[in-house]
Amino acid sequence: MNKQIASIVIVGGGTAGWMTAAAVSKHFQSKNISVKLIESSQLGTIGVGEATIPTLRRFYAKLGLSDIEVIRATNATCKLGIEFKDWHSQGRSFIHPFGLYGQNANNIAFHHYWLKLRQQGDPTDIADYSLGVNLAKQNKFCLPSPKPSSSLEIFDWALHFDATAFANLMRNFSLANKVEVIDNKITQVDLNNNDGSIGSLQLENGETVSADLYIDCSGFKGLLIEGALQTGFEDWSEWLVCDRAVAIQSKSTCLPIVRTISQAKTAGWQWKIPLQHRQGNGHVYCSQYLSEDEATQSLLMDIEGELIGEPRHFSFVPGRRKQAWNKNCIAVGLAAGFLEPLESTSIALIETAIDKIILSFGSLSYGQKEINRFNEVTQLEYERVRDFIILHYKANQRHGFPLWDYCRQMPVPDKLENKMRLFKNKGILERYPWEIFGADSWLAIYTGFNYLPDVYDMNVNHTNEKTIKKNLDDVRNAISRMADSVPDHAEFLKKFCGYSPNF
Ligand SMILES: Cc1cc2nc3c(=O)[nH]c(=O)nc-3n(C[C@H](O)[C@H](O)[C@H](O)COP(=O)(O)OP(=O)(O)OC[C@H]3O[C@@H](n4cnc5c(N)ncnc54)[C@H](O)[C@@H]3O)c2cc1C
Repeated sequence: MNKQIASIVIVGGGTAGWMTAAAVSKHFQSKNISVKLIESSQLGTIGVGEATIPTLRRFYAKLGLSDIEVIRATNATCKLGIEFKDWHSQGRSFIHPFGLYGQNANNIAFHHYWLKLRQQGDPTDIADYSLGVNLAKQNKFCLPSPKPSSSLEIFDWALHFDATAFANLMRNFSLANKVEVIDNKITQVDLNNNDGSIGSLQLENGETVSADLYIDCSGFKGLLIEGALQTGFEDWSEWLVCDRAVAIQSKSTCLPIVRTISQAKTAGWQWKIPLQHRQGNGHVYCSQYLSEDEATQSLLMDIEGELIGEPRHFSFVPGRRKQAWNKNCIAVGLAAGFLEPLESTSIALIETAIDKIILSFGSLSYGQKEINRFNEVTQLEYERVRDFIILHYKANQRHGFPLWDYCRQMPVPDKLENKMRLFKNKGILERYPWEIFGADSWLAIYTGFNYLPDVYDMNVNHTNEKTIKKNLDDVRNAISRMADSVPDHAEFLKKFCGYSPNF
């Protein structure tokens, strides 16, 4: 039997809680639904999560917020992709751009033409055929053309932002949409006797709060979904071996770059996230191979600017909640699962969860059908992102480091193994339903790790070799000319987003 909803309580006021509150309150604006959010300023939020992927821009656009508005409010910089330093092997680096490579021709994907020339000895890097990579390397930025004259002009972008400022932006939006906020600690979650669903929440101040639907955004602990409902957790640490992180902010020492830096280290990797007013730095590592002190030392040694505050330490188990929606409780954000920060997918998974909540509530009721569908899709989204991240570890050639040797040799999930085999044997980039990352993202990682097929689509041979060579030269030159005409990222930020360097 379907259950009616007239009230929603969101537990948690981190990025997940406030993004959910903003979108849900907008969705139910004209309906008679009360939305409350409980947060605890005493407990605070995780306070990291500052690199995003382009889906974020679609999320806030649906709320009616413009890019410039968000950049200004969150001291953000633009992000064209991630540079992976030393991931393939020491001294080699590549960029995963939010954009395309080359131009398909005769219904054949571009990379097959590139593969053919490469197999004949042409050393040109596939990166030279990507406008996104060209711009990212040179720290240039402009808004993509809304009406590109060819696919060569297509690239996408995301933000590096101040997570607290972004949560505040979402908070203000939610409050304007009549979300009621309660700042208090939940001390007890009571279950209904009849069906074991969430009945009410006891607060430290003695109040009791109840609702028809609970959205658990309480962070890693999953106060409702796990603490009360004991939903269960699927542990993925056999493939995603990093389980700790240390993070610290520092003052900027140079103009902000237009990409995230991810640098492989002995037993993990370090990030650099440039904001307008400071830089975020972190080291994600595996506690089996590196101590907290060693990880912190390694991080601090690589930071040029003056440190802001003290290093903060995080411990996590990569995986996902077995059911993101259990009875009358939906988990969003870290309460639903966490893989690891590589590829900045956590906030994107918050967005997809919110999209599904909104889709599930076209009317003001839900039943088992909506719950099952939500859980099925969530599982696929998490697994697809998991596999994409695993590929970064599996394909490494960092011989002689126990973590990297383990990752190179570990068996990977079946779907990923099939995907990798299909690319290696046939050069095919297969895309499964509910994948967040498209074919060109997979291509960026395969080629960045030099994981290349020995074959290419034979239909390429219908075009004579000289023509292929000329076409590829033309593409490369056109991209290089386009990149030359684009201003510096810092100029863009100064002109439109109020940026003024503070170093
Ligand atoms: C090291 C690290 C780096 C990351 N980097 C990225 C990144 O670059 N990009 C990205 O997309 N994601 C990243 N993430 C993930 C990202 O930080 C989170 O997805 C995001 O911040 C959402 O967190 P949250 O809102 O689910 O949880 P939290 O921020 O932990 O919020 C939980 C909320 O619940 C409240 N709460 C908890 N218990 C109670 C209680 N008993 N009573 C009342 N309130 C309570 C807390 O006060 C808080 O308001 C990273 C994560 C880690 C660990």
